[in-house]
Amino acid sequence: MQIDMAAEAARLDVLRQLNLLDTPPSESFDRITRMAAQVFGLPVAAVSLTDHDRQWFKSRVGIDHWSIPRETAPCAEVALTRQTLVLPDLLEDECYATSVLAGQGVRFYAGAPLITSDGHGLGALCVLGTEPREVTEAEMAALSDLAAMVMSQIELQHAFGRIDAASGLPNRVQLREDLDDLARDDAGAERLMVLIDLARAEQLNSGLRVLGPSYVDTMVEHAARLIRGAVPAGTRVYHVSATQFALLAPAGADPHACLAAIHRHLAAGNSRHERHLAASISIGAAPFAIGEGAAADILRGAYGAALDARARKLPFAVYSAAEDDAHQRRYRLLHDFETALTRPGQLRLAVQPRIDVASGRCVGGEALLRWRHPTLGDVSPAEFIPIVEHSALAATLTRWVIETAATHLATWQRAGLALKLSVNIFAANLDEPDFADLVQSSLKRHHVAAGSLELELTESAAIADTDRSMAQLAILAEAGIGIAIDDFGTGYSSLAYLQSLPADTVKIDQSFVRGIEDNQRAAALVASMVALSRGLGYRVVAEGVETAQAMTLLKAIGCDEAQGYLLARPMDVDAFEAWVAADDQESVAA
Ligand code: C2E
Ligand code: CA
Ligand code: CA
Repeated sequence: MQIDMAAEAARLDVLRQLNLLDTPPSESFDRITRMAAQVFGLPVAAVSLTDHDRQWFKSRVGIDHWSIPRETAPCAEVALTRQTLVLPDLLEDECYATSVLAGQGVRFYAGAPLITSDGHGLGALCVLGTEPREVTEAEMAALSDLAAMVMSQIELQHAFGRIDAASGLPNRVQLREDLDDLARDDAGAERLMVLIDLARAEQLNSGLRVLGPSYVDTMVEHAARLIRGAVPAGTRVYHVSATQFALLAPAGADPHACLAAIHRHLAAGNSRHERHLAASISIGAAPFAIGEGAAADILRGAYGAALDARARKLPFAVYSAAEDDAHQRRYRLLHDFETALTRPGQLRLAVQPRIDVASGRCVGGEALLRWRHPTLGDVSPAEFIPIVEHSALAATLTRWVIETAATHLATWQRAGLALKLSVNIFAANLDEPDFADLVQSSLKRHHVAAGSLELELTESAAIADTDRSMAQLAILAEAGIGIAIDDFGTGYSSLAYLQSLPADTVKIDQSFVRGIEDNQRAAALVASMVALSRGLGYRVVAEGVETAQAMTLLKAIGCDEAQGYLLARPMDVDAFEAWVAADDQESVAA
């Protein structure tokens, strides 16, 4: 029989889209098959789908096997002609006398085509007998009706909440169900979840803005075709979110080889559009064992790997539990920090004394945020500060710190202690339109003199200047609030540039100070940093002073203030107040 190759390719594509091949038996089909057998009074009937090389039985009664070769199968003829076919005696038929069925003792065949609503023949609903037989018109009409019922069932299943309308592919719901099905038969088997992410978020946004919503539809349509063509036979493709596809690679697949193969196939897309699309695709894979872990978690792992691949400009990446744990922890800390900001008891300020080098007296301290998480215990600022810094909580954190610092300053002021307190702020804070107002009103509310608060901002924060942040800094400085450049020397700014900022203090980063006692060049560098800064009118603070020799050197160099473990570690406010009181006594005694 002549086959039109293009029509056959389209027919097979439709069959694949329906995702019926190799799915488990289902009662909704078996019911119809049994009825067909009953109508003809015959023991054997089947819903038989015509795949490229086989007839695969979605439902069967009276047959043990799942498929027969497509060649010489009468159902294949029914699928292609989309006509009913009756073979009263196979042995008398010139085409089928030597067929596989005839070889198995089948003499009678009747089949009605399974035709989709858009006209593709998928296969046949057939009945078989071991004796030659004639059919009546009523029997054949019933067989055609039952075939139509099979098709309704197929199309209904295809549509109902399991199939994505844009791509025609099964969705996440179906993926979850398939994983559950697999868990029943194949628990513990190692598989690979592959996630194909079509585009970066910003790429999607600009596409949507320029081309409208059809942009995503077209992209998904092309991608679905490209991906179906790229995956090996027997692999199901799922459309798991608007612009993401997933597939379950067969057991034992080597993740890297499997991803490389998919990537190679995608890159070989034949239209220009497809090649363009393939270039923006990122692929991630998560190995997992069937029955362990929820589908959503497995997908999340694979998606994380796809994001990693994008970030590292690789075509694909495989999930790493260590990286995932780190991500999870970051996510959790950010989430929990929001709670910490609103509930009392988790956050507090520690204070590390700042010492005037010449007199050796404490002039104030730096407020350093401390977080005791209810279950994780103490979390280091080195861990949570960078996470919060790049979130919307940066504003709330600084508000909390300033408000708390103002409370402490008010207490000290009432106790007659002339101490300054400096707090760390983020670059982003200066971009909040009401930041200067907020700081000032907090001080006013607590009746604290502006001069007793200092804001530390890092060199890089000071560089990220906008008109708004410059204006805010100017207002704050004008009000008498101290401004210090923190971690000085770690950024790339020149002193000439920093001079344009309304700062009055420079804090030399610990990395320059630590070890100056053993290294002449390091000492010379700090000496010139101090000389230069003082020459420009800044008060200079050395951070990270850990040894007495370093302290002696700093004194000789002419540094104004020192801060470091040698002098005191950061401590709780009560301890700081006691420390200051003891320090005063010592000075008095001295
Ligand atoms: P930073 O502003 O440079 O603060 C100084 C850090 O160095 C503190 O670490 C302090 O405990 C530590 N340190 C002080 N003296 C020594 C020393 O002699 N040797 C060594 N090795 N370290 C010393 P901490 O408290 O862990 O804070 C780390 C960073 O977290 C701070 O660096 C600051 O950038 C940030 N941070 C802490 N609290 C806040 C806050 O309330 N707001 C903001 N925006 N950032 C904060
Ligand atoms: Ca600081
Ligand atoms: Ca610092």
